[in-house]
Amino acid sequence: MKWSFKLGTVAGTEVRIHVTFFILLAFVAMQGMSGGQGMAGALDAVLFVSAAFVCVLLHEFGHVFAARGYGIRTPDITLLPIGGVARLERMPEKPMQELVVAICGPLVNVAISAAISTFLGLSLVLNPDIHFEQSGHFWEKLMVWNLFMVAFNLIPAFPMDGGRVFRALLGFFVDFERATRWAAGLGQAIAVMAGLWMLLSGNVSPVLILIAFFVFIAAGQEASAVSQRQAFQGLRVEDAMVTDFHTIPSSALLRDVVALLLSGNQHDFPMIDARGDLLGIITRQRLISALTEHGPLHPAESILIPCDLQATPRMDLAEALTALDAGTCSALPVMDAYSGRLVGLLTAENVGELLMVRTALRRA
Ligand SMILES: [Zn+2]
Repeated sequence: MKWSFKLGTVAGTEVRIHVTFFILLAFVAMQGMSGGQGMAGALDAVLFVSAAFVCVLLHEFGHVFAARGYGIRTPDITLLPIGGVARLERMPEKPMQELVVAICGPLVNVAISAAISTFLGLSLVLNPDIHFEQSGHFWEKLMVWNLFMVAFNLIPAFPMDGGRVFRALLGFFVDFERATRWAAGLGQAIAVMAGLWMLLSGNVSPVLILIAFFVFIAAGQEASAVSQRQAFQGLRVEDAMVTDFHTIPSSALLRDVVALLLSGNQHDFPMIDARGDLLGIITRQRLISALTEHGPLHPAESILIPCDLQATPRMDLAEALTALDAGTCSALPVMDAYSGRLVGLLTAENVGELLMVRTALRRA
């Protein structure tokens, strides 16, 4: 995640903090300061928010350690002003595993509030003269914060843990895709109802409206990501790659590539050297801007983009699409595993076409 920096590594998981988090700290410090207690008030406020976020972090580690039990690693956790995000390597798709991973976050907060209430109860017994406003106040607030985290996270809507718990429970009865669709639908319904309720009651809180909106979008995204993954299941690169394409020699001029561009609907042109090895790809966008700058007689090799990632025909399509997204080239070169020769091109456009065809066939 951009604009975040590393705090440290705990049990193989990098803990990062987003810079906007410090804006939150500055904001609560200012609020604390204006509360009439000056610096002491500011310090109190910052201390409490920091403690609250330590609880958020522990919540995320609840997920991390549960996932690790199933062999799923978590490369990093990022703390944002709105909470923590643990980036799991993959999501468990077995209902039982998803249930356990999702529930272990809120369970940490249950444990923390139980510990605090025991501690408060004990100190009350040991020292009956205790004044809550002074010594106990901080811990009392932290306990309430943890209970709030449990309640908020268990709302059955993506991306909250409750959405995953609900999907996992549905997953015992229906398939993963349908469970996701139902869980996403419930999440969106809750978001809409919360929004409507706020509007009708005249109790409009901009923050809550924003959260409802965010939940609505996230639920839809979760559903479409799952149905896309489902659509790609069992597909390989060779099912989607373009095999009918032009290549250009390293001696070509911009003029030659323009001629090819205008004669067909290919946008990305692989350049091949005399031995037949791939040098890189020339994209339409680069070609057009180079024409303005250098004219048609400029060597095409000067605007070549070397491709850092490649695929093979038997590669899993979903995996290749990740490489297409991450790579430098707008078309992923597909190389024959034995000869090392270029045998195809994978572009977002033709994967989109393949999806449309698959969807049409499934409906037929
Ligand atoms: Zn969680």
